[in-house]
Amino acid sequence: MQGEGWYLGAGAANAVRSGLQTLTPPRLRNDCFAMPQGVAWTPVDAALDRLRTVLHPVTGTENIPLENALGRVLAADVTALRANPPHANSAVDGYGFANAATGPGVCQLPLVQGRAAAGQPFTGSVPSGQAIRILTGAILPQGVDTVVLEEDCAISDTAIAFDGPIKPRANTRRAGEDLPQGATALPKGHKLRAPDLALLAATGTAQVQTYRRLRVGVLSTGDEITSRNAAPHQIYDANRPMLLALATGWGYDAVDLGHAADTPDHIRAKLDDAARTTDVVLSSGGASAGDEDHVSRLLSSEGTLSNWRIAMKPGRPLALALWHGIPVLGLPGNPVAALTCALIFARPTLSTLSGAGWVEPQRFTVPAAFSKSKKAGRREYLRARLNGDGHAEVFASEGSGRISGLSWATGLVELPDDAAEITPGAAVQYLPYSGMGLT
Ligand code: AMP
Ligand code: MG
Repeated sequence: MQGEGWYLGAGAANAVRSGLQTLTPPRLRNDCFAMPQGVAWTPVDAALDRLRTVLHPVTGTENIPLENALGRVLAADVTALRANPPHANSAVDGYGFANAATGPGVCQLPLVQGRAAAGQPFTGSVPSGQAIRILTGAILPQGVDTVVLEEDCAISDTAIAFDGPIKPRANTRRAGEDLPQGATALPKGHKLRAPDLALLAATGTAQVQTYRRLRVGVLSTGDEITSRNAAPHQIYDANRPMLLALATGWGYDAVDLGHAADTPDHIRAKLDDAARTTDVVLSSGGASAGDEDHVSRLLSSEGTLSNWRIAMKPGRPLALALWHGIPVLGLPGNPVAALTCALIFARPTLSTLSGAGWVEPQRFTVPAAFSKSKKAGRREYLRARLNGDGHAEVFASEGSGRISGLSWATGLVELPDDAAEITPGAAVQYLPYSGMGLT
């Protein structure tokens, strides 16, 4: 079955051979976001475990030139078509010879005519007991297995002399010592960065099979939200530029779905639009279960909604739904909660949907530069940055609307689900923004 083959990674190569460039992956199951009954508050880890279990890649694959592949996710292992280096070569400028003909003490070797340079191989053979001028990157000529540094030689026009012994194969690089031909250069699911392009180029890959870039729609909701000329009762849309920038920074095609007023028709029209043009939607606002929580209401009446009440501050409500088969993550409206939920939940979700697999935030244990008494029962994320001593200080206010704190911070401090009494110097977990793909 084609879809299943793609999902399991087996069908991709066949599809490319048969000239079929884009496959339609299976959609998520309708009940995939259902939480076990009776769980009132879902711990962060349980929510993450659930997401990790139910999600899978949702984009097709395509074969693209390596030069366009930065940030793309490999849809199949890439094999080294060529060894790196392809041939044994010199690591230095010096003189090459057969080691067996040398030994301890002063070694004087006559020089053969000619030289070996990078891109200008010496095609003859070097007799045992003689040496040849060789430059960095030059293929070792026949008869040469060892190179002595030019700085270690006395040199005349016709001979060199150096103090032996020199170790066999000194100052040379073996063929394939970096990567042999046929080895896996990079695995399926790897997201290509600049050094990866170097590795693939060096090992002879010019085209790569990648997942199509994930299209992430971003929608803001709320009657009070506007993008320009705010009336007194309105506020500017802070979440949309933030979430669009996050999605772009994570390497996705960010699709601006605009803003929907708090009416089912508006939200429905936006989601219908999204179902045609995107692979996943990040909405913000209206995600709780109150009177004015129109996203939740619409998703529960017409989509397949699970309202997850997550034992986390800031955050809590996270609406997860399928709308015509595409996942919708309904983030809280408060910008602080929206960003925190995006970093903790949307980031691994989108990564998995994109084919790059589940990702964890990078975390460091650092001393606290603050005091805090924390109750048991929910995980807390504080806006934080490191001071000059490398200790984590936290933003003075925990108010969820304090956007300036998001900007002040360079990361989050994560406090455990259990109760905690933090005093200066206590070990806390610091999650830098940069380790969550936020730059
Ligand atoms: P809600 O989740 O819709 O109840 O919104 C919670 C709070 O976040 C309210 O004070 C909203 O006005 C605010 N809010 C919602 N969406 C945005 C947005 N896009 N930009 C800035 N603030 C927002
Ligand atoms: Mg609202």
